[in-house]
Amino acid sequence: MAKGRKPSFSQHKPRKRFGQNFLEDPGIIDHIVSAIAPQNNDLMVEIGPGLGAITEHLVDQVGQMAVVELDRDLIPNLRISFATRNNFHIYEGDALKFDYNRIPSDLGGEQMRIVGNLPYNISTPLLFHLISYQNQIADMHFMLQKEVVDRLAAGVGENSYGRLGIMIQYYCRVEPLFLVPPTAFNPPPKVDSAIVRLVPHETLPITTQCTRSLNKIVTTAFTQRRKTVRNALKSVADDALLEQAGISPEVRPEQVSLAQFARLTDLVLATDQPEPQA
Ligand code: SAM
Repeated sequence: MAKGRKPSFSQHKPRKRFGQNFLEDPGIIDHIVSAIAPQNNDLMVEIGPGLGAITEHLVDQVGQMAVVELDRDLIPNLRISFATRNNFHIYEGDALKFDYNRIPSDLGGEQMRIVGNLPYNISTPLLFHLISYQNQIADMHFMLQKEVVDRLAAGVGENSYGRLGIMIQYYCRVEPLFLVPPTAFNPPPKVDSAIVRLVPHETLPITTQCTRSLNKIVTTAFTQRRKTVRNALKSVADDALLEQAGISPEVRPEQVSLAQFARLTDLVLATDQPEPQA
């Protein structure tokens, strides 16, 4: 597809159930592509290429370009638009259930770079699905609801601090990049959007023996975020255990750092261990 030219399938009616808000602002698209900084040996994976607004600016600059698209009505058009590109590969299916190991195994290359103007209704489960592939991912650039980017980047004590930020920051460095107004899309969404870069840590700076338990404890804590940690976590830990983890039982969950939650998780796991057999 020639850059800047309307795709041949511009008649496609955006579908709400697939979260289709297509990017149309060329300045914003350029800004996103510059932030991604595609390289000629990249294995680039785009989730939800839609009408190809971002895809067409990446495909010629990378080694291999794979796209994962759920709306089967868009697939024939993507095939036609990128028919001359030997490095372009379509995976038809649900990005939430997709096995991302397939892509490096089909196309070669070690680590994927992931991009996407994501359907907002699936962004949180999709982020959790993707971080299970953190060793195969070099970085991720996503358009998300601004409020979700705030939650991803929030530090301890901030209003948006909670489970999403804590769990993603366990695996990734989070860099909010810039805001995108509703006018950049067709149809315009009702909320502001923002671009975020997520870079999986090469070595995890904070660790716990069991991330599922960490996730459970953090979820329990923030289900009752207005309560003290003592009350919010009373089914999990007593005051002595909280204090051992460096957490004052009087504070609210939003005052507890990732490192403290990780320490508490390991202490809870150690306490739950069955007594060694004599
Ligand atoms: N990248 C295009 C753009 O920026 O104009 C389209 C972005 S639109 C917000 C979201 C895209 O994700 C649509 O193409 C939609 O069909 C696709 N999509 C929605 N749910 C999906 C899923 N579960 N798996 C893969 N693609 C999905």
